[in-house]
Amino acid sequence: MNRKTERTTPSRKANERAKYDDEHIYSILDEALFCTISYAEGGQPFSIPQSFVRINDYIYLHASVGSHFIRTIADGRPCCITIMLADELVVAKTALHHSVNYRSVVIYANGELLETDDLKYLAFKNLTEKIVPGSWDYLIPMDKKDMDRTSGVRFSLAEASAKIRQGQPGHVEEENDFPIWTGLIPIKPLRQQPVPDEAGSKIPLPKHLYY
Ligand SMILES: Cc1cc2nc3c(=O)[nH]c(=O)nc-3n(C[C@H](O)[C@H](O)[C@H](O)COP(=O)(O)OP(=O)(O)OC[C@H]3O[C@@H](n4cnc5c(N)ncnc54)[C@H](O)[C@@H]3O)c2cc1C
Repeated sequence: MNRKTERTTPSRKANERAKYDDEHIYSILDEALFCTISYAEGGQPFSIPQSFVRINDYIYLHASVGSHFIRTIADGRPCCITIMLADELVVAKTALHHSVNYRSVVIYANGELLETDDLKYLAFKNLTEKIVPGSWDYLIPMDKKDMDRTSGVRFSLAEASAKIRQGQPGHVEEENDFPIWTGLIPIKPLRQQPVPDEAGSKIPLPKHLYY
């Protein structure tokens, strides 16, 4: 698939950092839980954070049937979706050379509403399993009423770019003699010990929630 187009080509460090293959794009999309979807309405840009899941060469989002964003993009208008994983802060000798080690994806696509219950079910199941792995079969099964309260939309990955920065800060020779610490500060998010509510505290923690 040729995802590289004029608008998915970065002006800076395109050869070094931009990737378009499934392996890079899928691995970022499968690790990230959240995206930001942007679109314009009446000349006003909107940018809304959402959860999402990738299935094959699409990402799927869901929202209440009353959601402004789903109702607005239902007409198939152009959208831009961004996803980012920030791995490390890059600390250099000068403020200018500070940076971030990141893996990110930008997608240009038009939303396609999920018209069938089968597709909605597939999106829900995969999204739930991504957010809380192992939980789908543990939960009260989803019924038609739940399904009718929710809208779903998907976006093709046909026009998308990944961009990746890795490694230590760049050094400039004239700065070498300054005794200033340089290196990386990891900032990856972690799943931690679950905190039960009152009902949850009366039930043993299920195995799939051990982190
Ligand atoms: C957590 C984080 C922090 C960052 N902080 C900074 C910062 O402080 N300053 C800074 O200059 N840059 C920062 N970046 C990088 C920033 O996202 C851009 O890549 C950068 O500004 C250079 O853009 P450009 O002019 O080359 O691309 P543009 O010409 O603006 O974009 C052209 C196309 O390139 C692709 N593209 C550009 N950037 C990305 C990306 N990050 N991921 C996937 N595709 C991309 C898109 O398809 C886009 O449409 C950060 C990125 C992340 C993820």
